[in-house]
Amino acid sequence: MTTATPNLLDAYWLTDSRQVLSPEQSRSAVFFAMQGEHHDGHAFVGELYQKGVRQFVVERAALTPARRTEFTHYPDAQFTETDSSLRLLQQLATDYRQRFQIPVIGITGSNGKTIVKEWLAQLLAGDYVIAKSPKSYNSQLGVPLSVHQLNSSHTLGLFEAGISRPHEMQALETIVRPTLGIFTNIGTAHDEGFRSRRQKVAEKLRLFTRAETLIYCKDYPDIDEEINLLLKAVNPAIRLIHWSKHEGAVYKAAVQQDRLTLTAEHGTWTLKLPFADPASVENLIHSIVALLTLGFSDEAALQNRLNRLRPVSMRLEVKEGINGCVLIDDSYNNDIVGLQLALGFLDQQLTRTRKVVILSDVLQSGQREDELYESVAALQRANQISEFVGIGPVISRNAHVFPATSRFYGGTDEFLASYPFDRLRDSAVLVKGARPFSFERIVNRLQRKVHGTVLEINLDALTHNLNYYREKVGRGDTGQQTKIMVMVKAFAYGSGSAEVAQLLQFHRVDYLAVAYADEGVSLRQNGIDLPIMVMNPAPETFQTVLDYHLEPELYSLRLLQEWGSFVGERGGEERRRGEKEEGRKGEKGGDLHSPFLISSSPPLHLKIDTGMHRLGFVEAELPSVIAYLQQHPALRVASVFSHLVGADDAQFNAFSKQQYESFMRSMAVLEDGLGYRPMRHLLNSAGIVRFPDYKLDMVRLGIGLYGVESSQLERSMVRPVGTLRTVISQIKQVKAGESVGYSRRGVLDHDARIATIAIGYADGFDRRLGNGVGQVWVNGTLCPTVGNVCMDMTMIDVTAAPASEGDDVIIFGQEIAISDLARTIGTIPYEILTGVSERVKRVFYKEGN
Ligand SMILES: *Cc1c(COP(=O)(O)O)cnc(C)c1O
Repeated sequence: MTTATPNLLDAYWLTDSRQVLSPEQSRSAVFFAMQGEHHDGHAFVGELYQKGVRQFVVERAALTPARRTEFTHYPDAQFTETDSSLRLLQQLATDYRQRFQIPVIGITGSNGKTIVKEWLAQLLAGDYVIAKSPKSYNSQLGVPLSVHQLNSSHTLGLFEAGISRPHEMQALETIVRPTLGIFTNIGTAHDEGFRSRRQKVAEKLRLFTRAETLIYCKDYPDIDEEINLLLKAVNPAIRLIHWSKHEGAVYKAAVQQDRLTLTAEHGTWTLKLPFADPASVENLIHSIVALLTLGFSDEAALQNRLNRLRPVSMRLEVKEGINGCVLIDDSYNNDIVGLQLALGFLDQQLTRTRKVVILSDVLQSGQREDELYESVAALQRANQISEFVGIGPVISRNAHVFPATSRFYGGTDEFLASYPFDRLRDSAVLVKGARPFSFERIVNRLQRKVHGTVLEINLDALTHNLNYYREKVGRGDTGQQTKIMVMVKAFAYGSGSAEVAQLLQFHRVDYLAVAYADEGVSLRQNGIDLPIMVMNPAPETFQTVLDYHLEPELYSLRLLQEWGSFVGERGGEERRRGEKEEGRKGEKGGDLHSPFLISSSPPLHLKIDTGMHRLGFVEAELPSVIAYLQQHPALRVASVFSHLVGADDAQFNAFSKQQYESFMRSMAVLEDGLGYRPMRHLLNSAGIVRFPDYKLDMVRLGIGLYGVESSQLERSMVRPVGTLRTVISQIKQVKAGESVGYSRRGVLDHDARIATIAIGYADGFDRRLGNGVGQVWVNGTLCPTVGNVCMDMTMIDVTAAPASEGDDVIIFGQEIAISDLARTIGTIPYEILTGVSERVKRVFYKEGN
């Protein structure tokens, strides 16, 4: 292992070992190995070395003697040792930033950072060559990577910076070094880490300690006051360009519906806004004031720019496509970093082996055309794309660098008119295009039309929740990371097993658990190779369990014995078959001292009943269990577990403790009898929050992952994952005294506008929600149900809501919490989640936020 400080500044910076790299990227890459709460990058040095990476930044604390020895096996690799790879990365980014003397816009605030950034990029597209943060790369790690995209052709930098803890902004300031700042607003997100909102504002303001100009809205008193108190003290020369709905700001903003009038001493501008909801209006005003500040002040020209503005969908959506395809819709922007991220996501689509990429010209890369498409082509090769389609004049004239089987079209119209859509079958298709190419039309063509009701699953929220629980369990007494088994039974609590499991596999959880063997089979068929425990393995399914390498939970002596004889016989059979095939070398066919073949007997799990009185061995049965296992040493116990009956409720604390103690007693007996220690686990989601002392070797995460923190203690730490939405099919005016729906239950006491929505009890909209018990969310207004819920439809009163036919209706999600909905009808969130019927389409998306 050699240690040196090679030129890291110009290397390709790699921080995620899972990223797919082209050979050229591997050669020039430096991998920053980081040791995190739930991930150790140093474990992947070898893997990356095999892929051709030669430069590594490693952390001293991670360099155990074993690691150092391992690293000597990579003779031509260069290692840079540091105390913190992240700090070094940030330091390098700071140095890198010094090379550029161009204007840089730095954006922070609680909400709207990404939208303002994307809109400014759209508004300024013709005027500058822009380097900007991909998606919402605004963290301690994302910001340095964003800034490192700068090259000599760029004439403007556009970066966002976000923080979640005190003292984080300092480092980001030196990396971004904004000349022009925008502070969007302040809200309550991430309040946890800060003493007060004031402290949060003050910390965010550090981004502007050396900025020349700052744009902000004076109507947030916390922001305004902290700027005058603090920022002015450290940066007295800063030019403040504020706007307000009231008098006293540089720009007075008056908004009437979609008309904005900005009045300043130096002029008045009246503009028609393309979006009129309050959040968009605020983001638009920030963007317009930024344009005015940059000198674009002609009213007609400003209006022209605004007219071209498109909504920013941060989402990368997974949709069901035509002919059995899976569609990855990333049609909102196309830059090279975004492409790499999307290709990585395509790679995770294990359900389809054929991979197709439909890509437009890459705009504004700031790279030479030939180099750019050479690297795009290299990425395709590295990702083993089966079919490549390029759309646009520039990518088409670089066709020669792509494989000969690729297809090229001059524009979107030509593609839609002449691409052989029928031949596109059973593939994962990534659709990624720069805005002017209107790739939403391609998505429209390729998407299987879904009927109005969908359950949207936010994969980023799911990841957030996983990380939250991971951090929560941390390391155990032995210093080992506590393992996580994720419960994906019941269609992953209604969220869609295959997709959720793929994400969990990507994030390297330790175990999955399902209720029945078929659920495990379906996961295997979808490319999941994590260990999978089956909680209810009926003897009829033992063969399936073996064939698909599933691991049974055994909970009674009867089941244990049936399993034992099943694998025993099967082992014997295999050995005999092996002897026949191997002829005289028969001895090698199996372990003659054991009745079983180790290889044919997967690890098993024992369940102990400590008080639930559902499934499981009671303490008195343990001697028989031990005796049986001693006679059948090939049966290997991977883990032993039990389940708390009231982990989410303090009134059962004493009982939970009793269960824990009973479990530990049983463990002691088992360990003694078996002569080894299987993994032990006890806690579900609520238990993780409420009983950190009982986490043992592994925890079993369920509902918390899906966005419901059932102990209610840390509700705000978990993000909602699913949004159940439908549409309004029809609206009609109905007079007071008339009735709505079956059995005349919904008699109106006022003239009402009644909307029929496309969801009923067969979709999982509980019949108990009828007759005004339940409410749904329509364009910002809660609307009660009217009359009985029907099988496929429900009527609601939209008299008080702005609503039109075709509008979206939200049943649960961010706007209506699943736990509140459950409480309304006296049930639990589990039932609401798993009650969403399978006929409701699941749509998966990544928000990038
Ligand atoms: C479903 C289940 C869990 C997960 O419970 P949550 O409350 O959803 O976290 C844990 N253990 C067992 C045995 C389960 O069946």
